[in-house]
Amino acid sequence: MKMHPHFEIDYLLGRSDCQLAEIITSPTDMQQARRELGELQDKGQQYLVVGDCDNTNPDGSCAGHPSTAEEV
Ligand SMILES: [Zn+2]
Repeated sequence: MKMHPHFEIDYLLGRSDCQLAEIITSPTDMQQARRELGELQDKGQQYLVVGDCDNTNPDGSCAGHPSTAEEV
């Protein structure tokens, strides 16, 4: 089972813009990113998955993916 790493949204909102930019690595400005994180919290999400995840739990964390052959 493969899991994507995730961050607590509370933790992310407590970072400085500079630190946040390193974690999120998206081209959006950090004010916009903070607003979007707040919207996720309003929807009940606690976590933000890092990477391209297509299987998330209702709380926003990764629900896991079946292992592929290259994984042990
Ligand atoms: Zn995932």
